[in-house]
Amino acid sequence: MRFIYQIVLLGICCACASVLAEQTDISQLQQRVKEARQQGNMDEAEQLASHYLALAVKQNNLVEQGNAYFNQGRNAMERNNYIDAKPLLEQAIALFQRTEQTKLQADALRQLGMTYRYQSNYPKALELLYQVMQMYQALQDTSAIASTYNSIGTVLEKMGQYEAALQAHQQSLALHYQLGEQSNIASAIYNLGDLNRTLGDSPKALSYFLQSLELDKATGDLRNIAYSHNKLGYMYCESGDFVAAAEHLNQALALFVQVDAPRDADWARVNLAKLAMAQNNHDEAQQILDNVIARAQQKNYHSLLVDAYKMVSELAIRKGDDEAALSYIAAGLAQAQQNNELADEAQLQKMRVDVLIRQDAVRDALTALLQQKKLEEDIFSSKKAATIASIQAQTEYTRQQLQIERLQQQQALQQAGLEQQRLTRNLWLVGLTAVFVLMLSLYRRYIQQQQNRRLEQQVNARTQELKQKHAELESAYQQLETISLTDKLTGLHNRHFLESHIENDLDHCQRLYQDWRAGKTAKPENADLVVFLIDLDNFKALNDTYGHNIGDEVLKRLKHRMQQVFRQTDYLVRWGGEEFVAVARFINREDAKTLAQRFIETIQQSPFIIEGLAPLQVSCSLGYACYPLDMNQQNSRWPTLLRLADLSLYAAKYSGRNGWVGIEDCKTQLTSANISAEQLQHWLEQNKAIVHHSFPGSLYWQQP
Ligand code: GH3
Ligand code: MG
Ligand code: MG
Repeated sequence: MRFIYQIVLLGICCACASVLAEQTDISQLQQRVKEARQQGNMDEAEQLASHYLALAVKQNNLVEQGNAYFNQGRNAMERNNYIDAKPLLEQAIALFQRTEQTKLQADALRQLGMTYRYQSNYPKALELLYQVMQMYQALQDTSAIASTYNSIGTVLEKMGQYEAALQAHQQSLALHYQLGEQSNIASAIYNLGDLNRTLGDSPKALSYFLQSLELDKATGDLRNIAYSHNKLGYMYCESGDFVAAAEHLNQALALFVQVDAPRDADWARVNLAKLAMAQNNHDEAQQILDNVIARAQQKNYHSLLVDAYKMVSELAIRKGDDEAALSYIAAGLAQAQQNNELADEAQLQKMRVDVLIRQDAVRDALTALLQQKKLEEDIFSSKKAATIASIQAQTEYTRQQLQIERLQQQQALQQAGLEQQRLTRNLWLVGLTAVFVLMLSLYRRYIQQQQNRRLEQQVNARTQELKQKHAELESAYQQLETISLTDKLTGLHNRHFLESHIENDLDHCQRLYQDWRAGKTAKPENADLVVFLIDLDNFKALNDTYGHNIGDEVLKRLKHRMQQVFRQTDYLVRWGGEEFVAVARFINREDAKTLAQRFIETIQQSPFIIEGLAPLQVSCSLGYACYPLDMNQQNSRWPTLLRLADLSLYAAKYSGRNGWVGIEDCKTQLTSANISAEQLQHWLEQNKAIVHHSFPGSLYWQQP
């Protein structure tokens, strides 16, 4: 188990290591390709580039794939194989565009522009280079800008735009110098030297080439060293220093061969042919040029081919071989036309004129001369057109730059405007929402308050109404109470009836006795009032035994028993509970005893017959008092009368119940109704009161 684990771990480590190795590999590979190319090891450079591409494809890394294609393209360019270089660079450009690698895309575009330049398609080259310039300026990449000035300068130079070319190279030099880039400084100086050569300033050109060689040697770029040697060889050849010329040209050739640049090597050979020609070694020159022309035709080195034709034409003229010269000139003219290299074409035409004049072929010479003049005009107008194109390109570039800036500004302004609008809108929205919410809450509060007020008013009104109703009810009830004179249960009169009628009777009674007291009449007959107070015996027990309803039934039936004993004109009253009052009106008080006895018997002797119950034996006790209490005076009133009847009733209860006690006369000076049992007993002992009763034994006024 542990062993397997170790193996798995080892596997993972190996995988990680290989991935890491590949990554270090790929990051180093590009540098190695570049180094091999600069050292002129083109086979190695190509091998490394293929490996680089394979790795990038394997890792599915599009940027590295682009880099690999770019390097393959650069390798092809170094081999002067522009036909193969183009599609490789275009592949790289497409990949960099896809992966948005602007800087790398611009680098590749610049190289593509240069392939057009080497293929003598200068307008296309210039178009691409200005596009590249725009990209670098957007990236603010000074070094790349400087290199592009350099490239533009070489194209402008080829187009005969010397002044503009000079400016571009000087610009390039200044920038590279600022950045301290030795190799690029050397290139700029080299290009400036070449321009001076073209413009005829040979001493200046020589000193520039010497300086560039020195700088190139310091940086060790073999190809550039070779270029400088090549130019120096040419310059020394022109000035007649053939030894120095041979030295430089041979070094250039050796280096071009070393770095595998066949076109450039042949270019050095053209110069060697020139040197041979200058030294009158015509055969050697011819041989060199024949070989160069053959290879240039085969490999489509168009510009080189024109140079070679020019040189071989000159050689033929020197040799006096006019036929050969005219034929080479014709071939050179055709190629120059194809290349759109007007200056070369004009030079070739001039050679043709010279040859034809020498042959006395005046008509043909004139025709050639006219063609030459026309070409020079064309060159002039072409230069003008190129100037215009260049200025237009620059103007277009500046214009586009301005347009881009303006668009960016507009966009920024629009963005700011939109932001402002959005902010304002949001602010408005927030404000409106806040106001709405505030208004809503205020409105709700208002409504709530209104409602509360209404409710309060309603409640107040209701309360007021209720209070009123209550008061009304109260008073109605009181009125009812007052008005009602009948007891609901028994249908007898109530206490209220009695109290509101008794005073009249008492007054009438007193009036009846008044004349007798004054001695005017005989003692009045049937002029007494007797108040009988009746209380049912042990009624609580009855209720407890048979229930309250049965008790009520007994109370109801008592009315009939009272009506049996008393007269219709007497007052029959339910005093409260199981207590009753009967007022016998205008009788003789001597008859009271009989009435009391009769009533007691009426209750006691006939039991109450209630459905579903055995006959109920009920008894009652009765106390009475007669009015006027003292027939001789009129000081006592109803409360006293009632109190005496009450004391009598108590006496009946204390004396054994089912009986009666009555006070017939009470001759006392009564000042209050608050008479006690002791007081009454005292009057009895003084014979101030006359009492009758139904009890066979002694009478008890108080609890025995
Ligand atoms: P006593 O008078 O002989 O001393 O005994 P009692 O049981 O009658 O005693 P008391 O007078 O103290 O009690 C009166 C009872 O009468 C109390 C109550 O149960 C009853 N009672 C009073 N009013 C009514 C009424 O309207 N209906 C009924 N069924 N019973 C009533
Ligand atoms: Mg009672
Ligand atoms: Mg009772």
